[in-house]
Amino acid sequence: MLSQLDTHNGTFNITNNATQTRRTFRVKTVINGPSDLVGKRIVSLLSGPDNEEDYVGFAFVDESGVHCWRRFKDSQFGKYAFFLNHADAFEENDEISVAMSGTCRVCNRKLTVPSSIEFGIGPVCANRN
Ligand SMILES: [Zn+2]
Repeated sequence: MLSQLDTHNGTFNITNNATQTRRTFRVKTVINGPSDLVGKRIVSLLSGPDNEEDYVGFAFVDESGVHCWRRFKDSQFGKYAFFLNHADAFEENDEISVAMSGTCRVCNRKLTVPSSIEFGIGPVCANRN
């Protein structure tokens, strides 16, 4: 799996170095919602011009990988989930470049302090654990 995806929330800009095409994925923890979803981390693809709102969720991510939702498995999203699960090798071979902007995996707030970005969790949420 792409490094950081198993522990880090945020926005991942992934560029294909050969074609210079870019896709933006976001990983976000569900805070408000149905109880069976709260605490789960959802992977979305940016699919429109509004880079705050135009995300389409298609998978859960946990320590074991990106798990595409069943209804999307046979679509392009299934391919993206497969890609994210194998992106480490592409990155090591310089076939893709990954730029990440981190958010807290507990509360989804933007992380700015380098040590917080490294751990993927903000100081307030880290102290609560
Ligand atoms: Zn937090």
